[in-house]
Amino acid sequence: MILLDADMPGMSGFEVLRVIRSQPTLEHVPTIFITSLNGEDMEEKGLASGAADFIGKPFRPAIVAARVRTQLRLKLATDRLRKLSSIDALTGIANRRTLDESLMVECKRTQRSLKPLCVLMLDVDHFKRFNDYYGHGEGDKALVSVARAMRASTNRPADLPARYGGEEFALILPDTDGAGAMTVASALMANMSQLKIPHVASDTGFLTVSIGIGCFDNESANWAASPQDLRDLSHSTPGACADALLQTADRALYSAKVNGRANTVLQRFNGFMPE
Ligand code: GH3
Ligand code: MG
Ligand code: MG
Repeated sequence: MILLDADMPGMSGFEVLRVIRSQPTLEHVPTIFITSLNGEDMEEKGLASGAADFIGKPFRPAIVAARVRTQLRLKLATDRLRKLSSIDALTGIANRRTLDESLMVECKRTQRSLKPLCVLMLDVDHFKRFNDYYGHGEGDKALVSVARAMRASTNRPADLPARYGGEEFALILPDTDGAGAMTVASALMANMSQLKIPHVASDTGFLTVSIGIGCFDNESANWAASPQDLRDLSHSTPGACADALLQTADRALYSAKVNGRANTVLQRFNGFMPE
């Protein structure tokens, strides 16, 4: 947490607080103004600009310590809640909720910028047999390993691996075209085969995954339509786009399963216009 003086040379505490709160890495850090600038409006201004508390000088150290403790307790509790509501408890990667929110944001971004966007869907092969043979405990451990392999296969900060549900995972790849998504899928397949998780009830003898990619890039139909034209279409809302892109990935995944599993299929998403 931050104890901040409102009255400083060069840049006022209010200005500092505004900058702090605009930084994604700092926005949740509680700030207490501690200042000799007394008066109601100062206190009001401080709290209105997002400070957690306001302490006037001269202060009593015991009061400052007590208020700091209160803020820290509050911060720990909200951090825990924030984490619980966005993270999958088993694997520690993003959950379905975070996936849906992020995909919506990325679709909005793509609609504005017409940058490519790929979504990768992953389904563990013959996982029911794996659970039946090795037990659910081992099954859960395997899911944790898949999540780790997904994390290890991506380098860009905006890439988002998430647990879609059960033994299905998704990976959002912003600003990535089909060739890029295939590269990530290959890396993921390589990481999976390195794990060498035994699966005697599967033809290959090891745990494998199938991957479907929904891809919007310059080979998609409607790629060249102007962002304004795309935005003007009522059915092309980011929500509808996110659903349709996921459905494309899901259809590709189904093809990968039909093709014999342990492989990747990419399908182009036609974009945000009617077919
Ligand atoms: P396929 O290759 O066609 O995907 O076969 P599958 O058996 O993986 O497919 P299906 O979707 O029919 O079965 C998914 C199984 O995954 C059902 C259940 O046994 C297992 N499963 C789903 N969620 C969990 C989980 O959270 N933990 C564990 N251990 N197993 C799960
Ligand atoms: Mg499944
Ligand atoms: Mg499966």
